[in-house]
Amino acid sequence: MDYFSANFLLIFAVAVLVITLRARSKNKGKQVLPGKQIAIVGQELEAPLGVETPLVCLLDDGQKFGDGFQEKTAPALPHNDLCQCQFRKVVLRNYDIFSQTPAPESPRSSDLGRLKRAEARYYKYMLITHHREAGEEVRKTYADLARRVNVAPAFSDAVKKHLSLS
Ligand SMILES: [Zn+2]
Repeated sequence: MDYFSANFLLIFAVAVLVITLRARSKNKGKQVLPGKQIAIVGQELEAPLGVETPLVCLLDDGQKFGDGFQEKTAPALPHNDLCQCQFRKVVLRNYDIFSQTPAPESPRSSDLGRLKRAEARYYKYMLITHHREAGEEVRKTYADLARRVNVAPAFSDAVKKHLSLS
């Protein structure tokens, strides 16, 4: 084997190696890691659940804002002088969105104590339904929503009592 052809072979081998490595790294870049295909990042508004909470806060409670959500722009906080709302960061990944089993829900604090999520929902709807600032249309809508939430009779009695409805 003479000097030139050995050199040529070496250059050729290096060139092949470079091309192969480049192609590999390109493919790697395209590969999507499981669980990372979709991630929607935004913020969720959380209002304190209680009889002193302003209506505007209760109505915005639980709303999600961000590029991936229907509402793009979050309202400026505080809503008003009595507002104690906060934003909580939310990240929804594809396995959250498409998963059949919902993530375990953490209890929510309120002026009635710590509530399960369904109880918290019921309580919020009742707070809105009986809010002194709520108009006829809003009352009707939320009374209807409250009726659809499945809570124990003892809990709904406790809420009514708390709201001085019974
Ligand atoms: Zn607020």
